[in-house]
Parts: sequence; structure tokens; C-alpha cells
Amino acid sequence: MSWNDILGQEKQKEVLRRAIRLGRLPNAYLFIGQEGVGKEATALEVAKTLNCDSSDALDNAEACGVCDSCQKFADLAHPNLELVFPVEGVLLEPISESGSKREKQEEALEKLKRLYDEKRRNPYFTMQMDKAMGILTRQIEILIDKSVFKPSGNKKRVFVLSQAERMNAEAANKLLKLLEEPPPYVLFILISSRPEQLLPTIVSRCQPIRFSSLSVEQLADGLRRRFPDRSESDIMFAARFARGNFLYAQKVLSDSSAKELRDKALNFLRYALSPSKQLELMREIEDLARRSRDEQLQTLLATLLFFQDAARFLATKSESVVVNQDALDAVKRFAQNFPTADFIEIDREIEHARYALSRNANPTLTFAALAIRLKSLIRNEALV
Ligand SMILES: [Zn+2]
Repeated sequence: MSWNDILGQEKQKEVLRRAIRLGRLPNAYLFIGQEGVGKEATALEVAKTLNCDSSDALDNAEACGVCDSCQKFADLAHPNLELVFPVEGVLLEPISESGSKREKQEEALEKLKRLYDEKRRNPYFTMQMDKAMGILTRQIEILIDKSVFKPSGNKKRVFVLSQAERMNAEAANKLLKLLEEPPPYVLFILISSRPEQLLPTIVSRCQPIRFSSLSVEQLADGLRRRFPDRSESDIMFAARFARGNFLYAQKVLSDSSAKELRDKALNFLRYALSPSKQLELMREIEDLARRSRDEQLQTLLATLLFFQDAARFLATKSESVVVNQDALDAVKRFAQNFPTADFIEIDREIEHARYALSRNANPTLTFAALAIRLKSLIRNEALV
């Protein structure tokens, strides 16, 4: 991984590298932008550059990639790097000797290990645990303890707080205290796709860097580099399907279930719109509720993209704008049957359901409520 491997974000990278070259880093950055655009990958590159052993690393704002420090960054095991993200509470409690709690802890540790493995392979990966209740007070207390130790040389300790908006109120207030009197050798990088949910007092202590959505071309470029064996048509499907999110683009391309989940989304819609298929709808929702959170979110995204295809097709009457090329008939049929659907409100409802699920809402209730709302927004009872 190097600056070159971070897709797009040229202006953002230059602002950061100039600050490194001039030695004019703020105490804290806030990286803002939708998921999968490279905020964490960039934060790691900043941290790696600041700690590289090569003598001209700071002057060039470029890590060598081979020294001992850079190797430790590649392993995400550098002592000057702290990665904070929502984890399960059991991980922060003292290890139990035995019993069911011990089992839960071992299970959670195993999950944590897998997250780190994935993050090492793919810096765009977002580490999160399904059962996490957010960033907990104890995690910030640990940071406070660690902030006491000054690193050797003129290196920097870098505290990366991913999904920072998921800090609970107590944790946020503790972090605020630390940000009010930050040790000069610590760089905080807060990362958030929902900065409006952060305490304004925290935001005001950070220098914001806004990351852009990636273009279809940038995504396709990244996919070609990572998956040189894949066909151009597969790459373009994933690049269009991913809506500016490189993490999701990779998933669509490497995961054969992407199309299967898309078809589930179409079934969900078809049943939701048909009064005679309510039993099938319930079965579909039950099946979705049993799937992983990730698959549930993907299904919702596929639903969203289907509507966007229908809206684009209605507006342009052009088949080439449709992302779901292999479901072109369904898109056209929908556009013909429901030309007056409220696409803006539909978009909002699906995003709302995605947000609720990502915050551990009950999946059965979320999908059932969505089915009812979509039905009225589409305002018709015919089949998709
Ligand atoms: Zn190095």
C-alpha cells in the first residue's frame, strides 16, 4: 500500500502530504465522506508515513514501505498505531476463567482476529462487529492511558477512530477532554460518514478533510488493478453498481452472491406489491431476517439500485443508463407500470432502513415496515 494505491482523492492527499512535509499537522483531523471512498486507507498511509524509518520519509511525505516500521504498519501491529472502532463489550472485560462468558470472549476474539486479517488484505475494509454497541467508554479510557507514552524520536502516535459517530456520550466527553489538551506527539484522526452525529465541540477541535465519492472510472481502475483476471463487463457492472464505494465494488465483483441478493431484492419488491402474495412476502422477509447483517444491507442496496434504474430509465428512455443490464426487462416493466412512483421518497425510505439495520434494528420489523411504505409510495397494486 502506498499513496498511489489510494484511488482518486488527489486534492485530499496533497493537503495531507503538504502538512507532513511542512511539519504542520493539526492535533486532530476529521475525515468525512461516504463509506468505501478510502478514508481509513488514507489515515493508515498518514500514520505509516509519519513513522517510517527512512530519513527522507517526512521530506517527501512518502513511506519507504520496506523498513521495520513500515512492515509493522502493513501488519497493523505498530505500537504507535491505535485503531479504535465499535467492538463487542465482552472484549473489554477481564478474561473469564471458564464458563459461557469465557466462550463468548473467545468467540469475539476470533471475530476480531478475522477483522484484522481482512483489513490487512484490504485497507478499504471497514472493521465492525455485528453485536457492537458502539465505541465504548473503556476504549477511550485505554486511549487516554496510552496517550501518556511519548514515542521515540520525532515519531507520532496516531489514534484512528473509525465510525467516530458511534461513540457513546460518555466516551465522547472523555475524548473531548483529551482533545482539549492533546499531547503534541499524538495525531488524532476521526473518521465518519455521519459527522452530523458527532458532538459539535469535538468537530470544532478537528481539521475537516472531505473525501469525494469515487467515479465509475476510478472504481473500474481500482478493480482492474485488484482483479486483473476479470472481464471488462464484470468490472463495469461492479463499478456502476457500487455507487462510488470501492469496498462495495470489490464485494460485488468477488462475491457470487451479489446477483443472488439482487434477485432476492426483486422478489421482495414483487411480493410487496402483490396483494395475493402476502404469504410469500412473509417467507421472503423471514429468510432475509435469518441472513447476515451484511447480506441484509446488500439486499437493501440492490433494491435501491433497482429503483434508481427505473427512475433513470423513465427520465431518459435509454437502456444504456440501466445498471441492472441483466434485469433490463424487470426495470422497463416497472417503469411502465409505475411511472408516477415517488422515487425520491422511496430512496429516502430505503436509506432509512439501511441505517436502522446497520444500527442493529430488528430485521423482520424493518423489512416488513419497508414493504408497507414502499407499496404506498409506488401507489399501485400491479406486479413488478
Ligand atoms: Zn519505511
